[in-house]
Amino acid sequence: MNKTPIDLLRDVFGFDSFLGQQSQVIDAVLNGQDAMVLMPTGGGKSLCYQIPAMLGTGTGMVVSPLIALMQDQVSALREVGIRATFLNSTLNAKRQRQVFEQLEAGELDLLYLAPERLVQADTLDRLTALNWSVIAIDEAHCVSQWGHDFRHDYLSLGQLRERFPGVARIALTATATMATRNDIVERLQLDHPAWFVSSFDRPNIRYQVDIKTDSRVQLKHFLAAHRGHAGIVYCLSRKKTEEIAAWLVGEGVDALPYHAGLDADVRAANQSRFINEDAVVMVATIAFGMGIDKPDVRFVAHLDLPKNIESYYQETGRAGRDGEPADAYMVYGLQDVVRLGQMVEQSEASGEHKQSQRSKLDAVLGWCEVTTCRRRHLLAYLGEKTDADCGNCDICLVPPETWDGTVAAQKLLSAVYRTGQRFGAAHLINVLRGADTDKIRQHGHDNLSVYGIGRDRDMMQWRSVLRQLVVRGYLRSDHTRYGAYVLTDSSRPLLVGEETLLLRNDPERKRGGKKARRVAPELSDEDIPLWEELRACRKRLADEHNVPPYVIFHDSTLKAMLKARPTTEDELLAINGVGQTKLERYGDDFLAAIALAPASE
Ligand code: ADP
Ligand code: ZN
Repeated sequence: MNKTPIDLLRDVFGFDSFLGQQSQVIDAVLNGQDAMVLMPTGGGKSLCYQIPAMLGTGTGMVVSPLIALMQDQVSALREVGIRATFLNSTLNAKRQRQVFEQLEAGELDLLYLAPERLVQADTLDRLTALNWSVIAIDEAHCVSQWGHDFRHDYLSLGQLRERFPGVARIALTATATMATRNDIVERLQLDHPAWFVSSFDRPNIRYQVDIKTDSRVQLKHFLAAHRGHAGIVYCLSRKKTEEIAAWLVGEGVDALPYHAGLDADVRAANQSRFINEDAVVMVATIAFGMGIDKPDVRFVAHLDLPKNIESYYQETGRAGRDGEPADAYMVYGLQDVVRLGQMVEQSEASGEHKQSQRSKLDAVLGWCEVTTCRRRHLLAYLGEKTDADCGNCDICLVPPETWDGTVAAQKLLSAVYRTGQRFGAAHLINVLRGADTDKIRQHGHDNLSVYGIGRDRDMMQWRSVLRQLVVRGYLRSDHTRYGAYVLTDSSRPLLVGEETLLLRNDPERKRGGKKARRVAPELSDEDIPLWEELRACRKRLADEHNVPPYVIFHDSTLKAMLKARPTTEDELLAINGVGQTKLERYGDDFLAAIALAPASE
């Protein structure tokens, strides 16, 4: 009997039903149509080509930029019994010959390879002669110069159309911007592709942005709710990743640094620990993360501002691919606003490019300061309209208070003006608060009309006003004046009272209070022994099979076992994530673990 997509989904992958548009994509590809698939990270893109590859005649070809991860991808497929392999420069000549032999004998379901390899003349000639069920181009945004990961080798993939006529090509990406999407279709020369655009919302990710007071204290507080979880902490500089990682280790967190300046061995070892263990925290620059598809990353924290919203979305998207609750946390402050702004101004980029960087940065800053649902703003930026607030972001959970900041803003702008637009935050605030400092006396600023007119607010409140004025473009930090604040074209209407200004009260988050959320499964005391037993069983099998634990089973599958406590193979097979091959390979071990556990109740 001929197998259908749903048969494979159940028997091979052990899932009950398709997610989102998976089923429609698979049907289109099986009908020989080209397809353009846009799904967020964790949306389930891989099945869209894996299932057609197994059902069609011939092998499925997967073009992917990430050589370092091919081994892992292929190992995971072999664990469910799919005949997959890869072709890249890490293989010796003998092994490469074997791969071609397997291909020619029709013994492979899936072949992974990098674009630079595919377009080598001899490889392409040999591959052209074979039988292909589908060609998948993963991370397809790499073909676009608009995207943030442009790779030159991707440009030559357009020729696949002529080289493999009649083979359906499917481009997949989690890129959200419209310009990039259109560019992909054009450059890959997709032939009247069917478009599949999913919502980019990641409802299980909770977004939270705090004003930076002391980032270490804030991080520590945030991590308290994530003990025993894997996560990523992003920092701007290499030095900082090492400092924060070392500090976290001292605080008892299993943290590792990652950045492009570390030795390749160290990088590989750190990445491997992150992937293969349950609770490693990676403190990294943005060099880390591309293609990491560890499903159980429970949080992504930014200690520095991302450069633009697209990157932020991609970086935070690495949390919670398994659909379980996850956190995206960020702290930012006036310093970051000034520093990133200066990096843009001082960069070598052309005027036009600079302008685009500037407006992208402004969008990030604006997003940090929003006073309504953070997710809706994020999705709107990515071109997606939503009807309701999300209920799962900091703003929805604790709506910020606003106040009429017109007068405060006028005082601050006046202080900037009266002191000659030559000073930084500390001095301006000292003048407003009527402080007695050498610098004030030296410049005679205690004689100014603005001296002491801001005693009604403390230092932190003035910094908050200043930050919001900078973010909204009423003040600018001028790098040609050592970062001094200067007025802008927007300042005047506010200063002369033609405009009013609503400001946000920086929320005071309680330390260690009830808001610390446990994302871990809420286990009852009786469940804990079996949970630990199941995890130990998974780790043992993972080590035996030389794959990460999540390739054996996801947490959600273990949780389902915990709940159902299956005692027979049939009962085990009914659990989401348990397919035929995994049942045969691991069923006995898990059934034994469950049988040994004390009964609940
Ligand atoms: P993407 O490549 O879009 O980021 P993946 O293909 O890696 O996503 O899938 C994300 C996760 O969802 C994987 O862990 C995968 O096993 C799981 N998954 C995919 N399809 C289904 C499905 N139909 N039912 C349940 N889980 C699924
Ligand atoms: Zn919200």
